[in-house]
Amino acid sequence: MKDLLQELLHGACLAGATKAAIVAARDIVVEDELAERCHLPRCENYGFSLSCPPHVAGSAALRAQLETYEKALFFKIDVPVHVLYSSDSRELFQLLHEIAAGIEQSAIMRGMVRAQAYAGDSCKRIFCHDQPDCQALGTLRTCRYPQSARPSMSGFGINVAALLRRVGWGTDVGECNTDGDLATNTYVCGLVLLS
Ligand code: SF4
Repeated sequence: MKDLLQELLHGACLAGATKAAIVAARDIVVEDELAERCHLPRCENYGFSLSCPPHVAGSAALRAQLETYEKALFFKIDVPVHVLYSSDSRELFQLLHEIAAGIEQSAIMRGMVRAQAYAGDSCKRIFCHDQPDCQALGTLRTCRYPQSARPSMSGFGINVAALLRRVGWGTDVGECNTDGDLATNTYVCGLVLLS
């Protein structure tokens, strides 16, 4: 088991993660209030894909699901703040989804058949921005990018800041540095439940 987890961590970093760590499933904090932020105030992506509320199971279901898991792989990608808020952010989140989905698939191939990945942002904005709608919500009921697109942690109320603190990576986005300037680097995060 230890070797397998090390392999998954190594694979995450090879794929582009800046850092990756194994966390206990009980350390994943899920809050209804965080999930509610998808619609209060309403996110511009709310309701537009199968991977976003109200089409996902949500925080209560995830809390129940976590009772059946022991571990998860948490990772982040460090990125300059200006990239996160630029037109390049779509590629950044695409990478985030691809790394998360890749870890999930590696885990499944190695026998962790209930591995489940979560990423960030809306897969409609990332993968289907040039499509009129989400194919998985239409009559075809199939995702155009099943190999990459994963649900966002936001819609499940996963407290990412608590995970960052748990693994000791800090949460200093947007804070001033010692020179009084705004921080120039930030991060995006993904999570893969392992079982
Ligand atoms: S079809 Fe597009 S919008 Fe719908 S779930 Fe798949 S990637 Fe997301």
